[in-house]
Amino acid sequence: MPDLAPADQSVDVLVVGAGITGIYQLYRAREAGFSVQLLEAGGGVGGTWYWNRYPGARFDSESYTYGYLFSRELFDEWVWQERFAEQPEIERYLNHVVDRFDLRRHMRFDAKVSSAVYDESSGTWTVVVDDGSEYTARFFVAATGVLSVPYFPDVPGREDFRGESYHTGLWPTTPVDFAGKRVGVIGTGSSGVQIVPVIADEVASLTVYQRSANWCTPLNNAPITTGEQAQLRADFDEICNVLNTSASGFLHQANDRAAFDDSKAERQAFYERMWNTPGFGKLISHYTDVMFDEAANAEWCAFIAAKVRSIVEDPETAEALIPKDHRFGEKRPPFVNGYYEAFNNPNVSLVDLHRTPIVRVTETGIATTEGVREHDTIVWATGFDFGTGALARMGIRGRSGLALEDYWADGPKTFLGAQTVGFPNFFFPGGPHAAAGNNPRYNGDQVDFVTETLVYARGHGYDTIEVDPAAEEEWTGMVDRNASKGSFTEASYYFGTNIPGKPRKYLLNSGGRPKLFAVIADVREHDYRAFRLSRSSDATQTTA
Ligand code: NAP
Repeated sequence: MPDLAPADQSVDVLVVGAGITGIYQLYRAREAGFSVQLLEAGGGVGGTWYWNRYPGARFDSESYTYGYLFSRELFDEWVWQERFAEQPEIERYLNHVVDRFDLRRHMRFDAKVSSAVYDESSGTWTVVVDDGSEYTARFFVAATGVLSVPYFPDVPGREDFRGESYHTGLWPTTPVDFAGKRVGVIGTGSSGVQIVPVIADEVASLTVYQRSANWCTPLNNAPITTGEQAQLRADFDEICNVLNTSASGFLHQANDRAAFDDSKAERQAFYERMWNTPGFGKLISHYTDVMFDEAANAEWCAFIAAKVRSIVEDPETAEALIPKDHRFGEKRPPFVNGYYEAFNNPNVSLVDLHRTPIVRVTETGIATTEGVREHDTIVWATGFDFGTGALARMGIRGRSGLALEDYWADGPKTFLGAQTVGFPNFFFPGGPHAAAGNNPRYNGDQVDFVTETLVYARGHGYDTIEVDPAAEEEWTGMVDRNASKGSFTEASYYFGTNIPGKPRKYLLNSGGRPKLFAVIADVREHDYRAFRLSRSSDATQTTA
């Protein structure tokens, strides 16, 4: 491979995004001997854990399953305080990783990419940042995440509001003062339900604007005791083994029983255990058929509904908080800590937008069909342009100036959720068609694979890597075909349905992590034939 000058602005690998995936990609590429530069739009390290710093933001994967596993020393020395760490601890951890492995000197912050253009004659990418600075790289890796472009719904008057407005996914680094304020929170997904109980006690009033209720269950967070800390360290090898090989990337064990294998009394006792199980254990360790057998799902939903009625004192509010439009598991379920209880606080009220929709935002509040509520602060917890949002906005241009957003106009086409035809030397680990469980685990699989592919190409004298159209078609076809076989339905933003005009295409990897593993193994076994490998100086020359 021709050497690129070692200056930061001309590197082998240019990574965009200093989140969990980008940090790991930077580390892996540098360890493999490539020169690397990382660009990050935010002012610091963290990606999603930098931007989502709203009160109450925390993991709902166990902290030690979400952190990196590539270094035993790192695992040993970082002492997670809670089973599900809160955002400040997560941000501290990621900064620690960056400094411990001396990665910061390869990073530039406040550097939002405005364009990335492939040059066919040299086989390189030119990446421009919004301050005009330019970078050239052989390989361009966008680790820009799937939940990184906040979505503001087009509610009339949104710009007219004269109070303070925040989006959970664009939270300022300076503290927001809620004390004594009349606050409106719009949206009751995972973000909305995390912030509500945390600010409920300090505000003058808190109005929760709910369009669709969600099946929320307790996160069951707890401090990690000294004994548990010691056990985690002792179990490191076993933990790695499970996390690196399991379908979901969690430690939770799958159940082997179907709901109606058990008697009614056994099922009720089981649901109670599930209610008290931490985080995603409630999906992974649940009855095998809970997502697919209507009667099993309905019984679990009835159990949750009864819990909501038993917690929320006002019966009308309790009824409004119980979903009527989807089953458990059709959407990504949020996990909560005191969310239902917050509605017993006289400061907190719920507005059911199905009954009284928002008409507009006014200069001083929010008008629904039943009148105006005055607010000092509005929190938009209204979600993200999932999967393709960031990639479609970066000005990415491949062969013959092909725009990525045009090539993906009908939905993303990918191979392994990591590469796409017409965009040689461009990779996007952690992007669309990738997700299949605990994010850092499959994103890490992809980073490892991208790095191995770069190393393979270098080792064989190639400097241009482009996925074969047949491989892309097969992977994309697999994703689309299997999309209806999982539990998620078009009620979920995983189909892009929360963004007006977005194609309704499945944006996760519906084959799951086992399919990702199988195809990666096949690529290795067949000498990377899924890719067209060539030398930029030559005409296309494949390994096939
Ligand atoms: P979300 O799940 O997409 O929820 C957005 C909310 O905004 C929904 O309640 C939606 O209502 C509402 N909404 C959208 N447009 C609206 C409108 N025009 N009027 C009124 N309400 C409107 O977004 P999110 O809560 O930010 O969560 C996104 C994802 O981020 C989660 O699924 C999860 O993967 C991740 N996350 C994880 C954690 C964690 O615990 N680790 C925390 C936060 C987020 P509808 O449902 O009716 O559309």
